Amino acid sequence: MRTVWIWGDQLNRDLAHLRGAVPDDSRVLLVVSGAKLTARRWHVQKLHLVVSAMRHFAAELEDRGFDVDLRRAPTMRAGLEAHVAEYRPDLVRAMEPASLTGDRLLRDLAGSGSLPCGLEVVDSDHFLCHWRDFDTWADGRDHLKMEDFYRWRRRETGYLMDGDQPAGGRWNLDHDNREPPTDDLADTAPEPVTSRLDDLDRDSVGWLPDSTFGAPPDGTWATTRRRALARLRHFVDHALPRFGDHQDAMVSGAWALNHSLLSHALNLGLLHPREVCDAVEGAYRAGDAPLNAAEGFIRQVIGWREYTWGVYRRWMPEYAHHNALGAVLDVPPAFTGEADTDMACVADTVRHIHDHAYAHHIPRLMVLANLATSAGIDPARLTDWMHASFIDGYDWVMVPNVVGMGTFADGGRMSTKPYVSGGAYIDRMSDHCGGCRYDRSKRVGADACPFTTLYWDFLDRHRDRLSGNHRLARAYHTLDRLKDLGSVRERAGEVRQRLSDGTL
Ligand code: SF4
Repeated sequence: MRTVWIWGDQLNRDLAHLRGAVPDDSRVLLVVSGAKLTARRWHVQKLHLVVSAMRHFAAELEDRGFDVDLRRAPTMRAGLEAHVAEYRPDLVRAMEPASLTGDRLLRDLAGSGSLPCGLEVVDSDHFLCHWRDFDTWADGRDHLKMEDFYRWRRRETGYLMDGDQPAGGRWNLDHDNREPPTDDLADTAPEPVTSRLDDLDRDSVGWLPDSTFGAPPDGTWATTRRRALARLRHFVDHALPRFGDHQDAMVSGAWALNHSLLSHALNLGLLHPREVCDAVEGAYRAGDAPLNAAEGFIRQVIGWREYTWGVYRRWMPEYAHHNALGAVLDVPPAFTGEADTDMACVADTVRHIHDHAYAHHIPRLMVLANLATSAGIDPARLTDWMHASFIDGYDWVMVPNVVGMGTFADGGRMSTKPYVSGGAYIDRMSDHCGGCRYDRSKRVGADACPFTTLYWDFLDRHRDRLSGNHRLARAYHTLDRLKDLGSVRERAGEVRQRLSDGTL
């Protein structure tokens, strides 16, 4: 008898770990690690999702006749060792984990010979592009541009291709997807699907440590594949048709808009990227979704998501320690919820995180990471906080997204310029500024928008590194004409201090 060891983000019976396994020859092990549960101050919905989904998956496999050992243990390693001592399998089979800590543990177990049985590690097929294929694509390139990777993947997968040409004649319709919010955007967006908490969901709350934060689980996130498939269907039928144009828009109090809310299920393994992209392409081909919506979504999945895993595997572990801009501040209490803030855009984003462990990509990038980068918040600490706070946060997701995309801490290996902006961008793409105590057009004075002040101060402080960047030429041209730069620097010092104190 062999053991198939399934990790908490591999919850799909069609993945490589279970391929060919039948109840007669394979027992299943899942370990809920106490060390993982207390490794961070997790959002309670995030932790609950993983634990409850593992328990549901264990129950599903038991229904299919497998003998399942769902084990609570101090660590993953201790859980495996206890299982092996009790059941004495001939072989343990695992699928390579997405993140490096898991990878290291498997290498260590394989190399140390500490297991009394064999250990077989099969390649992950949780992604459409395995990291070794990413490496082959990346070798010899000076710059790993996501857009180049994405076009290669479009050709390889055939998604949205008409022969060897992109459907509609353009690879990337992002330009069409940056419309500001309309007055009725929130009212016309469908309500997200929720599921009634079942017995396992409710009981799983008792498995969580006291150290979590956030609103309790309310059935928003799918803890089974069946529920995840219902959410995929709902997105394709009701949200995808309007997802495109306004996908970067933010509306106060509206946390979901037309976003898919599927990343949690993809990252747990409940959904596979292939079936998600198949469903979206199918809607486009049937005339039920416009091309800019389908292309924008498929780019997020086969482009950005898989690119993120590829660069993570290629550049880690050193990559997580980059801090090219020398940012040293702690994550501010306005983010963690330990202090209120008058910044309406930040308050709204933090409220969504508290309530749902979620905010879509623009509040993450252009509110949280923007403020963090321009204020000088330590990227490693920001990564850690986002990893713990978002429903879809994992090491492989958050390190590239924060260190590379969000904060420019890698000095430009991933992005060609830092994603920083003053309040004008947020004003254009949201309804936040109208009711805010700060004035997005002011850079000095007590009511100056912190984003606007810090934007100019950021450019000024990093002139040596950034002024030669041609994408910032216009910004530096304007900076050089500011008559009040001394006052901006002074106000920026106050803003940073108040951000740290929790009084901004
Ligand atoms: Fe955010 Fe500034 Fe707008 Fe207020 S004025 S909502 S702080 S961007």
